Amino acid sequence: MMVINTVVLSIICGSFVVYSNCLKDWNNQRLPATSVIITFHNEARSALLRTIISVFRKSREELIHEIILVDDFSDDPSDGLELAVIQKVKVLRNNKREGLMRSRVRGADASTAEILTFLDSHCECNVNWLEPLLERVAEDKTRVVSPIIDVINMDNFEYIGAASDIKGGFGWNLVFKWDYMSAEEIKRRENNPTAPIRTPLIAGGLFTINKSWFNQLGKYDTKMDVWGGENIEISFRVWLCHGSLEIIPCSRVGHVFRKQHPYTFPGGSGIVFARNTRRAAEVWMDEYKHLYYNTVPSSKYVSFGDISERLDLKKKLKCRPFKWFLENVYPELEVPPNQALLYGMIKQGEMCMDTMGHFADGSIGLFHCHNSGGNQEWSFSEDGSLRHLDLCIVLPSNTAGTVLELAHCTPTHHSMKWIQIHNKNMFKHRSYNLCIDSRDVQSQGLIALPCDETARTQQWKFIIN
Ligand code: UDP
Ligand code: MN
Repeated sequence: MMVINTVVLSIICGSFVVYSNCLKDWNNQRLPATSVIITFHNEARSALLRTIISVFRKSREELIHEIILVDDFSDDPSDGLELAVIQKVKVLRNNKREGLMRSRVRGADASTAEILTFLDSHCECNVNWLEPLLERVAEDKTRVVSPIIDVINMDNFEYIGAASDIKGGFGWNLVFKWDYMSAEEIKRRENNPTAPIRTPLIAGGLFTINKSWFNQLGKYDTKMDVWGGENIEISFRVWLCHGSLEIIPCSRVGHVFRKQHPYTFPGGSGIVFARNTRRAAEVWMDEYKHLYYNTVPSSKYVSFGDISERLDLKKKLKCRPFKWFLENVYPELEVPPNQALLYGMIKQGEMCMDTMGHFADGSIGLFHCHNSGGNQEWSFSEDGSLRHLDLCIVLPSNTAGTVLELAHCTPTHHSMKWIQIHNKNMFKHRSYNLCIDSRDVQSQGLIALPCDETARTQQWKFIIN
């Protein structure tokens, strides 16, 4: 009880401007009720209880339709069961560890209110946290809204008000981070500091969404495991499939940020995280997924399973291309210049361009396409470099018949710059009328010959993977 009182005080003092702006007679407003979904695995009982109590204490009774607790196979079943005696609390227990994505979907499926509100199992809801969230979603069901997430100190459980001029973002490693608003945006908000903040990403654990919209949008990717990547995935999906994400400054909920996961990751945390993140990248990021692979090369070796259902969903919902997201939702994220976005194999009939295991100074050959990357994996960048890992295809001299070589990429060098011509079916050197030709491949390797669009040996198809 002591703790909760201090909480309210500190938040009122700490963020008084924001708080006073948010005062409103909510009692006169008709709002839909919500089901609160909380999943947990081996959560401290005190933290779990505190979350639930704060939901009841800080929410108008009629707005809480139920609290659904999903016990994700915690070691001690009584952690959850003992809470089932509380009115409106329903407890579901998984009979094996499912991870937070499948657990949340299970909770959502079992819920019966029009609106879903997800919380982590170590939160503390603050005064009037719920109404501003429900209001935004009731007005427009395609909005997905999150409170400002205040910090509960993990050592002493002190409640610390978080900044209200930040949003959710990420770098090309696809790890969630908080971004400060630009000076311009802060200035624009001066007159209306409590207006909803459009955010590229939500942190993921705490948000409100209309249930039918959640279902229509494809819930979560239930082939993701344990933890991680699901926040990026649902954020991309909401934006690309015609919804929006907002942080609502008038709503505040505390959350215990921990340094470590207090639970095991079946499969290893790095692998599970990379696998989930790859699933998000492969489904939603189009050619920009390569920027992630360039940033976290090790992730390429983690298999991501079958994504066909998610790709079908993307098609069905007529979702936008990732480029739209970068241009319209997250223009602050810089796309590194001259990065290859085209990755794949370069085909001529059934044969593929192949390094034949050669390194710098070696020639380039052709081999039956094997569809497994390796020596047949090429990228083509805006700067004109045609590369395999850090080796580029170079034209050592400008005489017809010159054998092409592999060389360490020095991307500014003109000898390594190519351009696709003739419906992108031929690779021509940028400075000379010479094209990549395979007629002598058996004896010497690929050579450069005057471009001739009737020559079958100069026809290449870049097959993007
Ligand atoms: N969780 C779960 N099953 C898992 C892993 C996590 O139900 O296999 C729950 C966890 O108890 C918490 C929520 O999912 O309520 C989010 O996890 P966590 O708080 O560890 O993530 P963080 O907030 O640190 O990103
Ligand atoms: Mn958490």
